[in-house]
Formats: sequence, structure tokens, C-alpha cells
Amino acid sequence: MSGRILNIGSINIDYVYRVPHFVQPGETLASQSFASGLGGKGANQSVAIASAGGQVTHLGKVGSADTWAIEQLSQAGVDTSLIETTTGASGHAIIQVDDQGENAIVLHAGANHELGLTRLRAALTANRDAKLLLMQNECNLLAESLQLAIELGLPCALNPAPMTRDINQLPLESLDTLIVNRGEAAALVGTDQTDKLVGELKSRFTQTRVVLTLGGAGSILIHKQQVYECPAVATEAVDTTGAGDTFVGYFLAGVVAGMSDQDSLHRASRAAAIAVSRPGAINAIPTLTELN
Ligand code: ATP
Repeated sequence: MSGRILNIGSINIDYVYRVPHFVQPGETLASQSFASGLGGKGANQSVAIASAGGQVTHLGKVGSADTWAIEQLSQAGVDTSLIETTTGASGHAIIQVDDQGENAIVLHAGANHELGLTRLRAALTANRDAKLLLMQNECNLLAESLQLAIELGLPCALNPAPMTRDINQLPLESLDTLIVNRGEAAALVGTDQTDKLVGELKSRFTQTRVVLTLGGAGSILIHKQQVYECPAVATEAVDTTGAGDTFVGYFLAGVVAGMSDQDSLHRASRAAAIAVSRPGAINAIPTLTELN
């Protein structure tokens, strides 16, 4: 499995309802339009890795009524052999979008929180020669996955999104790569000013490759006391959903393919800029040929 990224990641179904206003207590509200599609940080990042030309095996779980999601991942170039089905509900998000473009979301973890320890241990052991184990924070057994990977000597990359308090209890200093946005970094080190953030991350993470993403202000790589700033690629932002996932997938695919960290960062920035210039999340992720 060398050269391959193993991604323990969420698979969500997004149900998007256009509404004149968010539904009020006791109200039944007719939606003006409806759309559904594949989402979830895990699925998005797997698609981004595959779109960047990387090899990725996705480990996850989805409801048996939604096997189309597995098919869609497979068509995007993701190895889906470690995706299981369950009789329970898939992870899903019920998203209201109002006339101002604001959204209100109910998120149900569903199958994403049904990963079992026995199978996880077997899968990690069988894939211990993967180049990298990638995780976000939308699946259960995150601490156990990280611990098992450490025991197996499998390098780990973590994008701790969405951030929760327990993330700071994990042995983050043993990560190969940590990718955080400003809010996530602030929750880890207790400040959100860029200079202080960089200083705190630099002193806390002496070995881990840390990438701090700053939206339209670009990204900063902090590795072994070196700091490298990468500007964002200027674009007209249409929909920034999924920018982070595109960036994570492209960056890690670059690193695993042997590109320098700096080159991987610039390529990830170009890919993320294309993603924000188009509507949607998973469907906005560009392929490698679109970058050239
Ligand atoms: P999201 O949760 O919206 O997917 P995020 O908060 O995880 O994103 P950001 O820091 O917002 O991540 O964005 C990741 C990268 O995407 C940035 O470092 C930058 O390279 C690119 N990017 C984000 N927003 C813009 C923008 N408006 N213009 C150009 N590039 C952008």
C-alpha cells in the first residue's frame, strides 16, 4: 500500500432545502427547492486526493440505502474497498438556506459513528505500509485510531474539523502533519492573532509539519522551526464550502507523491482557489488537469 493514503473519514448525505426563512418552533414550512448530494469532510478529502492524482483508500461506513455514495466515490477514483454498509442511517445534514444565503444545519453522525474497534484494528494492521493515515473529526474512534497508528508506526495526518474540546487531549505532537484553520488553531493554542498563533504552534510542535490555513489570506507552513508563508491565489469567491477539504487533499497528495512541502502548498492553494470560485463542495473540487 506504499504511496497510498488511508483516510478514515466521514461520508455524509447533504439534504439542502431553499426556504424563505428558517423554520420557526411549531411551524411547518414548505421549501422552495430541494437538492441532495454527497458530502462530509472525509469524502471530500478523499475525492480531493484522488483528483490530485493520489492513491487513496477510504475507510468508513454508510447506510445500505445510500450505496450510490460509494459508487460516486469509486467513480472519482477513490478505493472504496474498506467502506462498509449498515442498516442504520447514513451520516447526513439537513440544511436550510434562506433568502439571505444564510444556512441552518442539523447534522446527524449516523453511520460515521458506527465504526467498530475490531475492524479498525484489522484494517490498520493490514494497511500498515500506507504512506499516511488521514483523519478528521467526524468519525468515532479518533483517539483509538491515532493510538493504533502510533503503535503500528503509521505516520498520521489530522485535520481536526469540526474542532471539539477533546482534540487537545490527543497526543498531537506525535502527528506527522496537522492541518488547521484559524479557529481550530486558536482552540489548540489559545490565541487567534496570526503572529502569536504561529509562535505558539512553532514552540509546541517541534517535529510535526503544521499547516495553518487563513482563508483568503493564504496559508502558513510551520515545520522544524521554519516558517513559510503561501499567499492565496486571488479569485472571485462564489462558495467557500469545501475550500479546506480541497486544500487538505491536494496538499497531502503532493507530500505523499514526493513534492516539496512548499510546492505542495502552492498547488493546494491553486486547487482551493478554483474550488471557491465555483458553487458546491465535492463537485467544486478541480482535477489536476484544471490546474494546468
Ligand atoms: P472551509 O471550512 O470553508 O472548507 P477552512 O476554514 O477549513 O475552509 P480556509 O482557511 O478557509 O479553510 O481555506 C483553506 C485554503 O483555501 C486557504 O488557505 C486558501 O489557500 C484557500 N482559500 C480559502 N478562501 C479563499 C478565497 N476567498 N480566495 C482564494 N483562496 C481561498
